Amino acid sequence: MNVSQPTFNRILSSARRKIADALVNGKSIRIGGGVYEMAGRGRMGGFGAGPEGECVCPKCGYRIPHRRGVPCYQEKCPKCGTTMVRG
Ligand SMILES: [Zn+2]
Repeated sequence: MNVSQPTFNRILSSARRKIADALVNGKSIRIGGGVYEMAGRGRMGGFGAGPEGECVCPKCGYRIPHRRGVPCYQEKCPKCGTTMVRG
């Protein structure tokens, strides 16, 4: 190891701070997901299975807006009655 002890300590504590930040941020993101209604829209954007999106009929392709809190597989296609899937 060619790094002096003080430098190594600095790197170490910096890494530790980053990990601590990540943990804190990860926690707050999870909490934010729980109070999504209050936190506002778009916060979870980029997650494939986020609360926004569409449910799609696998049979006829009919799409309906995904309802928050209602899984697509609990929706029925209004045209043919097939169980919807995540769009
Ligand atoms: Zn359908």
